Amino acid sequence: MAPKPLPNVLEITPYVPGLSSESGYKLSSNENPLGYSPLVREAVEGHLDHLETYPDGGANQLRDAIAERYGLDPSRIVCGSGSDEIFQLLARAYLAPGDEIIQSQYGFLVYRLVAQQSGAETITVPDKDFTADVDGMLAAVTEKTKIVFLANPNNPTGTYLPFDEVRRLHAGLPENVLLVLDAAYAEYVRANDYSSGLEMAGSYENVLMTRTFSKIYGLAALRLGWAYGPSAVVDAINRVRGPFNVNSLAQIAGIAAMKDDAFTDKSVEFNKRELARLTEAVSATGLKVIPSVANFLLIEFPAEGVYSAEKAEATLRQNGLIVRDVKAYGLPNHLRISVGVKQANDQIISVLGEFMARR
Ligand SMILES: *Cc1c(COP(=O)(O)O)cnc(C)c1O
Repeated sequence: MAPKPLPNVLEITPYVPGLSSESGYKLSSNENPLGYSPLVREAVEGHLDHLETYPDGGANQLRDAIAERYGLDPSRIVCGSGSDEIFQLLARAYLAPGDEIIQSQYGFLVYRLVAQQSGAETITVPDKDFTADVDGMLAAVTEKTKIVFLANPNNPTGTYLPFDEVRRLHAGLPENVLLVLDAAYAEYVRANDYSSGLEMAGSYENVLMTRTFSKIYGLAALRLGWAYGPSAVVDAINRVRGPFNVNSLAQIAGIAAMKDDAFTDKSVEFNKRELARLTEAVSATGLKVIPSVANFLLIEFPAEGVYSAEKAEATLRQNGLIVRDVKAYGLPNHLRISVGVKQANDQIISVLGEFMARR
């Protein structure tokens, strides 16, 4: 008989990344349209003569740099090969068959995948207005609940939960349930009532915050993320991670990226302007745009007829614009479009305008 993987492994539907394009614009993975800091290029190039050496397994200089930048205790930071790896490590350390995780209806798909890898069940709680529903999530807690995952802001909806609501969610959870606050898009949010969860992760034994270098820092290719939280959780992640889980170039790039405030400020400003412009222009075509605080938009198309999301996606693709269908999230009538360079956004506006003006 041939070797057989575990039954829960065969139940996993593999994550399908955003399509890429050889020509035209890729607006399917929420990458930084401005690229990345020139300081990163310099730092990475400076290390190319040393690829024969293993990375610093503890990512010590990187953790110190993160700690300094955000005012944190470096011993309570752990780095991962993308924040995706942190979620996997959490599943490895905290989830077994029979356990449950809770997430919101349109919450990020990766949480479900990592739960499945450990044979745990995902309890999905209906959203309200495309936003996580705190009362619903609290009502879903059982003895089996081990982790509550909240992407804030959430992908693919672009919506966020105000700080008070996150606090209320935490206050209602039993102490043995870990609340994971995934703040991948935190830097883009301008709202006064938003917080990444940094303070909560510093104050409670059951809150972990995760961050990434893939979005505002534009380093998705290098795979770098980190988590901050209680020592016991950080210790558990350290026990299950690979000894060299973050490669040297990623560590060096992360340190350099955090030195370039001019680049991140410019990225935030650019996103703010272009997100507002896209939201207004796409709404003016008659399409519904879910209000986003991140670097992408979720657009709702009519369920039937010639203006469907599927037809729009095909039309955009013919015009060299690769966007994200979100059927895997149970959103067959929506498309997610990342904010691109100015010319890409101009094209989105004109192609969708023509698409909606057809009869
Ligand atoms: C993009 C994204 C991440 C980042 O993942 P990495 O593995 O760090 O690239 C995390 N959470 C959400 C919700 C995202 O959209």
